[in-house]
Amino acid sequence: MKQLSEHYIDGARRSIEGGEVVRVLDAATEAPRVDVRLGGAADADAAVRAATKAAHAWQTLSPGARAQYLLALADALESRASELAEDISREVGMPLKLSRRIQVDAPIAAWRATAALADDFAFVRQVAHSRITMAPVGVVAAITPWNYPLHQITGKVAPALLAGCTVVLKPSELAPSATQHLIAACEAAQLPAGVLNIVSGGAALGAALVSHPDVRMVSFTGSTAVGRKVAATAAGDMKRVSMELGGKSAAVVLPGADLQKAVKATVASCFLNSGQTCSATTRLIVAREAYPECRAWLEQAVAAMTLGDPAGANTRIGPLLSATQRERVHAHLAEAERAGFDRIAGGPDAPVPAHGFFVAPTVYGNVPADSRLANEEVFGPVLAVQCYDTVEEAIALANGTPYGLAATVWAADDATGARVADALRAGQVDVNGARFNPAAPFGGFGLSGMGREGGVFGLEEFVEPRAVQLP
Ligand code: NAD
Repeated sequence: MKQLSEHYIDGARRSIEGGEVVRVLDAATEAPRVDVRLGGAADADAAVRAATKAAHAWQTLSPGARAQYLLALADALESRASELAEDISREVGMPLKLSRRIQVDAPIAAWRATAALADDFAFVRQVAHSRITMAPVGVVAAITPWNYPLHQITGKVAPALLAGCTVVLKPSELAPSATQHLIAACEAAQLPAGVLNIVSGGAALGAALVSHPDVRMVSFTGSTAVGRKVAATAAGDMKRVSMELGGKSAAVVLPGADLQKAVKATVASCFLNSGQTCSATTRLIVAREAYPECRAWLEQAVAAMTLGDPAGANTRIGPLLSATQRERVHAHLAEAERAGFDRIAGGPDAPVPAHGFFVAPTVYGNVPADSRLANEEVFGPVLAVQCYDTVEEAIALANGTPYGLAATVWAADDATGARVADALRAGQVDVNGARFNPAAPFGGFGLSGMGREGGVFGLEEFVEPRAVQLP
């Protein structure tokens, strides 16, 4: 079993003495995999000091020179891509083939795409007699979750570094291996000391970073519950915050749309990474008269989702991260059963492998709009189907949760789909199965957060415009 007991501060690995240890298990076998030692407030302070010391030299480099480091980091990560994909698959539960593509190759491409923004982004602009310079915000605390560990880190750290900020990263302690590869990549890329500091810790270390007076911005991805606390603390010092939080995203199937295609795509989105995806489509909103046909397509689509060993060539759904996550999901299933929702597939008693934190892909129909299942993030493989009588009602249902991260519209034609998309309060809306665009802004309305990641929008989060008026 691996022992992880170090921070990466001021360009060097520093071992952690004492402190709590968190044991991370293999999600599919439950075998112990990694013991992670957690640091505390003193480590947060040391990391912030290192980032502060490195800030001046880093921000005086040209954006192009900073971009070269991002490219070197991408190359170093690429040289470790197979191990990264396997580690993330074992910790988080995502099938290996998908892990390679989504958890590893996509973030590596994002490091490179962010580097390319150095050529396009106007760090200096002229507005009449004002010269506007886009100054880096300052030291950034980046706090990330476990479900797409490298992806979430990349979405913050790459643009922050390109903007000229120095960073203290506190990744999730529950999926720690990606961080080890990132530390090795920083060393291989010869990133200047203190530019990116990586600390091992949990809530206490995270909270110490958020309240540190020399941190100027907190970029947080995680649950809405923790995000609220983080934003409230950060407000005390008027720190800038960027919040990527939870979701309860809906697919709206309009009359005349290809129902079978919509169902297949919704099932794929909802059950990706065992439902441990912030933007998962966890609600399917269909016309009442289409419900019987929809039900049949759902049964068929879920039956095709092979559950099992994440290393298996045909596996589409692996386990959840941990027993704690499985229990959370089971609590939702028990409530749905008690309420008597129409169980279309799966359920708490559906067969799953004897070992590993598995939950069978589950679908409930006729889920009322005021139920917990229709409103709360489950973070497991559970889809809720809701019925509408009019298109206005479908839009109201889609907008009817406190969240607003993503949505999908299925329509007979793209123009109709786009019109309905414009009525949805969600940060990302896909029409008729259009694919993810990493250069488009990603983020949420409502309790899904504030601020955006992705492309130029993600970079803008990390700069302060400074207007200099010239006579
Ligand atoms: P979490 O909120 O429990 O933890 C996120 C991070 O915050 C972790 O690093 C954790 O150690 C840290 N943390 C915990 N308490 C803290 C505190 N008081 N102060 C500072 N930091 C603290 O979330 P999680 O369980 O790791 O991740 C799952 C959640 O993340 C889901 O709700 C999911 O929707 C959300 N998420 C959102 C996006 C997005 O882009 N919108 C992406 C991925 C995940």
